[in-house]
This record gives sequence, structure tokens and C-alpha cells, in this order.
Amino acid sequence: MNNAVFNFEDPKNEHVLNYNKNSCEKDNLFLELNKQSNEQIEIPLIIGGKEVRTGKIGKVVMPHNHSHVLATYHMATEKEVKLAINESLKAFKEWSDLSWVVRASILIKAADLISMRYRYKLNAATMLGQSKSVYQAEIDSSCETIDFLRYNAFFASRIYSEQPKSTFNQLNRMEYRPLEGFVLTVSPFNFTAIASNLNMSPVLMGNTTVWKPATTSILSNYYLMKIYQEAGLPDGVVNFLPGSGSLIGNIAMQNKDLAGIHFTGSNATFNSLWRKISENLENYKSYPRIVGETGGKDFVFVHPSAKPLEVAVGIIRGAFEYQGQKCSAASRAYIPKSLWKEIKDLLIQMASEIKVGDVYDVSNFMNAVIDEGAFDSIMGYIEEAKKSTVAKIITGGNGNKSHGYFIEPTIIVTTDPNYRTMHEEIFGPVMTIYVYDDVDMDKAIDLCDKTSPYGLTGAIFSTDRVAASNICEKLRFSAGNFYINDKPTGAMVGYQPFGGARGSGTNDKAGGYLNLLRWTSPRTIKETFAPATDYKYPFMEG
Ligand code: NAD
Repeated sequence: MNNAVFNFEDPKNEHVLNYNKNSCEKDNLFLELNKQSNEQIEIPLIIGGKEVRTGKIGKVVMPHNHSHVLATYHMATEKEVKLAINESLKAFKEWSDLSWVVRASILIKAADLISMRYRYKLNAATMLGQSKSVYQAEIDSSCETIDFLRYNAFFASRIYSEQPKSTFNQLNRMEYRPLEGFVLTVSPFNFTAIASNLNMSPVLMGNTTVWKPATTSILSNYYLMKIYQEAGLPDGVVNFLPGSGSLIGNIAMQNKDLAGIHFTGSNATFNSLWRKISENLENYKSYPRIVGETGGKDFVFVHPSAKPLEVAVGIIRGAFEYQGQKCSAASRAYIPKSLWKEIKDLLIQMASEIKVGDVYDVSNFMNAVIDEGAFDSIMGYIEEAKKSTVAKIITGGNGNKSHGYFIEPTIIVTTDPNYRTMHEEIFGPVMTIYVYDDVDMDKAIDLCDKTSPYGLTGAIFSTDRVAASNICEKLRFSAGNFYINDKPTGAMVGYQPFGGARGSGTNDKAGGYLNLLRWTSPRTIKETFAPATDYKYPFMEG
């Protein structure tokens, strides 16, 4: 047994490649894009390390060219869900008993495999399957996935070394046990890195998972699963289970060994999972840990001292990168009348330059939204705004789903601060702006705080540092990730741990040590060297 007291060092974030014209990284990526576009793979379930085929088949298509089938995948039935739970429980003992340094080394190997061998494969799968641009795929499926894996090893070092005091005649220790049972992980379509982290942070702390990936990100998620296996993850530690969310969720949540759920996705889904857990409370061995990051209605608040160009760039990038399909995407803004004309002109000019289309054309700033349901829902908001007497579309407003699910970057200006698109999450390329009178800035701050049920991200732009500080204080509970003079997206692991409260989730800060703590159930061990030999205390002598 190796008895070294080992610590992983504070890592550097993975270097983001630029994919410049004529670079070899661009050539390699395009070779992989061509390969994946010209094949149609079959994706099995992976349970207990074995491939399982059910014959119940679904299709993975490109959102920007929806008649192109990239892959077919097998869907779990009741039998496979039960098998996956059994396999995860079977793998639990050996995995949780294993030295945590060995567990961490598997995660770090996975990070290095992505960095050196599978970067283009993961990026291409994310570009084609989830319709991300080169840059959006690079920062997500490669860099953020790698950062989560490496940083979590470092955070675990810090957690495990945190120990209680000991004193005369006693030795005290804290053992960071995993949760007893299996963890159900349910991942969203929009970030390959989140899908990875939902599994690998519980796994690092000694847990095993049953993983329900989103149907629209199965291609990149399958490659992740294969990389974990190649990195040495033992069979059954993560069980990859594409299929119907409600079928998998219902069976898993009825199981007495459900130890926790690690979720990222919409509020509706998270609420239904929480409800199911509460209905089953009497049946569980332990109270399941519920960790869920959900929706956002993220804001940009502009102080009259702000610089219009910086505001406009922050809004355009914050609202329209990845078609606004980031939980952190800017989707409402409060702008003072004194700056409005200048900011409006800049926004219209920039939005009109944005090209929307296929991921192959690197001059496209935006690509397609994820599927037809998303397209119809987003266009519904836009069509409603066209008819409204209190809203006006100043740029964009058109969509076309005949070939791919394309929607123009759309900016709505409303005179009603409570207009529907000021408080509902749209999850698409739609920004709504409310212009406030400069003298009413305090009222506008109050509106920003109270209009939406969410509390995920928000940004203020101001060159007046004292004003920025005051607004930051007034908006204390309106965002879990707050930005001063920057767009509200783009949190980096190790630098801006991510998550929000209110309607945005349990705020367990992915990309920080707080999330890892949720996957432990500590045991305190006190050892006494010379135990008492008389039950009486001195005060009893009278
Ligand atoms: P979604 O809720 O539709 O799906 C998330 C996952 O839940 C998918 O795997 C889906 O198949 C599964 N699911 C759906 N119904 C289920 C059920 N009844 N039981 C069990 N599982 C079920 O969300 P989405 O469209 O994939 O992602 C978009 C949402 O995710 C947005 O609301 C966005 O804000 C949120 N999100 C939040 C964060 C964050 O950190 N706060 C990050 C990314 C995405």
C-alpha cells in the first residue's frame, strides 16, 4: 500500500486553440468533421462496461441539416435501467474502497486523452450533433471538460486534507465517504463539459452513477463514455443509458438505493424529479442528495456612465453565442435613455452583420438551435412580440426550419418591464431591452431584481466604480455569478465557480470544491488512547 500523503497541484486551465486559417489544428478538426459527417455510427448503451443493444432505435441528426443522420442509438427499456442500477451498486464497493489518488489519476488520464488524442473527435461531435461553432465547441467539449477533470482532483486534495483537531488522549479523523447507493445523473444537451462533470465529480469522490444523457447530445456524450473507459474507469462506475427521461427517472427514483441526483436542465424537469423523490421519501435508505442547476433569465444592467461599445459587444456576445442556448445567456437588458440611441445603433449594426448557418462555414457566428421543439418555442415568443403593442422587434425576427433550425439574432424593445420575454427563459437568440429614464435608475435596479424568478447570472456595465459597487450590492441575490463590465457568460473552471439560486437551482457551484462536497457523507472517527475506567465524575465527590 502506497502511504504517500499526496496532493494534486493547482492546475493551469487548458489552452484554448484558435483554429486560425491554415493552422494544423484547423486541418485536423476538418478531417474529423468530414469523417463524422460521412459515417453513421450505432450507439449502444454501456452497462457494467458492456455494450447493450435493445433494438429500440432513435436517430441523432445535425440541427443545422436535420435530414442528415449522424448516428442511431439504442434506447433503454425498464430491464436495462434495472440492470444499470445493479451494475452501479455492484461496482460501488471496489470503486469507493480504491485509493482516491488512483480514482483521480483516472480522471486526469481522461483529461490528457482529450487534450492529446480526442480533442478533434469530441469537438467535431459537439459541432455536428449540438450545432456549435468551432470556438464554442473548443471552449466546451475540450477545454472545460478537461478543466473540470483536472481541477476536481486538486479540489479533492484540499477536501481530503481538511481534518479535525486532535488533542491529549484522542486522535480525530474525518473520513470523506461517498454517498451510500448510486447517483442518478441527468445531463442537458447544451454543454458536453457539463455532461462529463455531472458524472465525474461524484465518481471522483467514490460514487458510481447511472447516467441519462440528453437525446440531442448523445454523439459527443457517447465519445466521452468511451474515453472514460480508455482512461481505465472500471466497469459499472458510470453506466451510459440513453432513452426516455421519464422512464429512466421513474425507475431510478423508486429505488431504495438512490443516494443522490446530479442534474442540469430545465426547471420543469428538475421540479418533477424533486417531486418524485419526495413522494418516495419513506422508501430510501438515506435522504438522497439533490443537486440541480436549472434555468436563467440573465441580465445586463447598464449605468449611465457605461461605454456604449463595451455594452453592445457584451450584449451581442452574451445573448447570441451558441444561439442563446446557454443557461447564462444574456436575455434581458436595462439601458438608460441617455445612452440608448448610441447603443441601439451599435446593436443593430452588429446584429445585422451576424451570419447564421452551418458549422462548416467558420464565418458563421451563429448556427442552428437544437431541435424542432426549441425552434417552434422560440419562434412563438418572436411571433407574439410582432403582434404586441408594448414590444417592438428592432432587429432579426425571422426563422427558417426547412433545412436546419435557424433563427436570426433578435432584439425586442419593450415599454413594459414585465413583458413576457423580460421574465421567461426562452433559451434561444432573443434579447429583450427595457429603456429606463436616467432619473429612475433605482426603480430600474429594483425591476431587474424582482422581474424574473431566476438568479443565475447578471452583468453591470459602469465606468463609475462606486456606482458599480452599489448596484452590485442591491442585486446581491439576483445572480449567483455576477459580472462587472463583462458579458454574463463564459465562466471558467477554477476562476468563476458556477451556479445560481432562486429558480436557478441549488447553487452547488460546479467548477469549485463546493460541488464535490455534496458527493461525500463524512464519517468522524474519534480514537481514545486510555479509555475511562471509572464511571463517576469528580464533581460527584460532594
Ligand atoms: P431538459 O430539462 O429538457 O433536459 C435535461 C435532461 O433531463 C435531459 O437529459 C432530458 O432527457 C432529461 N429529462 C427530461 N424529462 C425528464 C424526466 N421526466 N425525468 C428524467 N429526466 C428527464 O433541459 P435541456 O433542454 O436539455 O437543457 C436546457 C435547460 O438547461 C435550460 O433551462 C438551461 O437554462 C438549463 N441549464 C442550466 C445550467 C446551469 O448551470 N444552471 C447549465 C446548462 C443548462
